[in-house]
Amino acid sequence: MKKLQFLFLSLSLLSFLVFIAGGRHSGNAREGPSIQEEFVSNEVIVKFKKGTVRALIQYGIDQVQGKIKTHQGTDIATQEWDPELANHRSFPADPYLFHIKVPGFIGTEQAEYILNLNPNVVYAEKNYIWHETVNPNDTYFYKLWGLHNLGLPNQGNGTPDADIDAPEAWSIHTGSASVVVAVIDTGIRYDHLDLQDNIWTNPGETGGGKENNNIDDDGNGKIDDWRGWDFVNNDKDPLDDRYPYYHGTHVAGTIGAKGNNNRGVVGVCWNVKLMALKAGNSDGWFTNSNLINAIDYSTNKGARLSNNSYAGTTYSQAVLEAIYRAQSSGKLFIAAAGNDGVNNDLIPHYPASYDLDNIVSVAATDHFDNKAGYSDSGPYSVDVGAPGGTDLTEDTTYNIYSTKLEPDSYRYLDGTSMASPLVAGEAALIWAHRPSLNWWQVKNLIMKSVDPKDSLFYFVNSGGRINAYNALTRPTPNLPTAPSNLIAWPFDCDIKLTWTDNSNNESGFEIHRKQGYVFHLIGTTGANVTTYWDYELPPGHYYYYLRAYNSYGTSQKTLQQGATATQCQ
Ligand code: CA
Ligand code: CA
Ligand code: CA
Repeated sequence: MKKLQFLFLSLSLLSFLVFIAGGRHSGNAREGPSIQEEFVSNEVIVKFKKGTVRALIQYGIDQVQGKIKTHQGTDIATQEWDPELANHRSFPADPYLFHIKVPGFIGTEQAEYILNLNPNVVYAEKNYIWHETVNPNDTYFYKLWGLHNLGLPNQGNGTPDADIDAPEAWSIHTGSASVVVAVIDTGIRYDHLDLQDNIWTNPGETGGGKENNNIDDDGNGKIDDWRGWDFVNNDKDPLDDRYPYYHGTHVAGTIGAKGNNNRGVVGVCWNVKLMALKAGNSDGWFTNSNLINAIDYSTNKGARLSNNSYAGTTYSQAVLEAIYRAQSSGKLFIAAAGNDGVNNDLIPHYPASYDLDNIVSVAATDHFDNKAGYSDSGPYSVDVGAPGGTDLTEDTTYNIYSTKLEPDSYRYLDGTSMASPLVAGEAALIWAHRPSLNWWQVKNLIMKSVDPKDSLFYFVNSGGRINAYNALTRPTPNLPTAPSNLIAWPFDCDIKLTWTDNSNNESGFEIHRKQGYVFHLIGTTGANVTTYWDYELPPGHYYYYLRAYNSYGTSQKTLQQGATATQCQ
């Protein structure tokens, strides 16, 4: 567990921090801090490459009309700056790290953007404000071991810190109403007292009586869809009717039950907008036709991501294409891996197993950070683990506590259905904190920020359980550009791959070859390499794709290419 109480970024912030912390402890329900409060305006922290000469550093800072803030609290112009003087440094321990003040007409975002384009800059980031770790006042927070596990008896006597480090993450951000998460499920009890403040309403169908005027005000073919849609009954009321589990309501609470409101539970996001899209019926069955329409609705109505806690073994090209439309619009698609206890690399479970880069496939972990027995897994096709409860009985402290039907009621459930919304909540928290990231950067942050676990190494591709705090504090991913023009050339039993390198910041390339249903990583190259030989293959037809990689993660994949290997000569 990380202690952040004294992890202040600089002494000059101290007075401001005391002010914020003072407000925080004033009691009562508190709105999450606005984005403006989360970093110091018109300041950037920038790291130049080691050995960058003075003139180039000066030029870089001049591009944003910056002044250097020294560790002694003075601002000096770049022309006065002397790199030899220790008291001119922003950070005595690192002469290449600068705390920059920029004029208001340039602003934080633009300064960060311009500096990150500079080839001599390793990174530029906002001067984020850190708060103490935050334990919210919600009545049943102590039951939510997936968020904050102390190993207590009322948390199933698990392993302390087998959790996603939610209080630590909340010291950085508690979520934003500007991030919309579609809950494609059995509906939501939208008037639940711990959910109602975080329910999305359709701006095209609200205000001036548009809610119930029997007119399709936003022209999307759905009349009065002011709080989502029921695709099962084809009406405007997406109320959850999945007796007795109220599955969609439970999922919604894990993503975004209102936080710090002295009531009930708390979601990963204290503040968020949950779009209720009822695609599963009262028996928990989802048809492909309802799913396609719900996925497209979420894509078209501004959700940045969707949570998809349902799974089956039948492949549907039409559902895949709907998820691809979501990807093309910049959306993430978080999906439960399935509850059959099988290896999805061998027995795919859809939609989690569709081979699309915007899907994050989620396995369930227990309160000891082991894979839950019922959870599907897959070292190639399942991405991350997240707390989902164990395979014992439903109503025990080992499981995931969240909202249910009655307006102030709660219950335990377990399953990958409960794990997926923790990842969806994490993605929404990342986007609240850094709205300008794209879906691929957010997925890479989720994958790269897991807590690695030996117990998960053979079960999920990332090898770990998600950690929201790590995700919020990693540097902005400077990911390589995907290679292109992949060609597979057969030479008897060998296949040669060639491609075009489009990236200037890759560490190398990953070679993936299809085996059965899924692509396996079979090798890597160094940077600037554009050929790879796959030697001595048994006769057969082989498919490949490539990704560029660096320390931040990978590029998206290339198109697949195939070639046929014959007997060795
Ligand atoms: Ca409408
Ligand atoms: Ca209307
Ligand atoms: Ca609450």
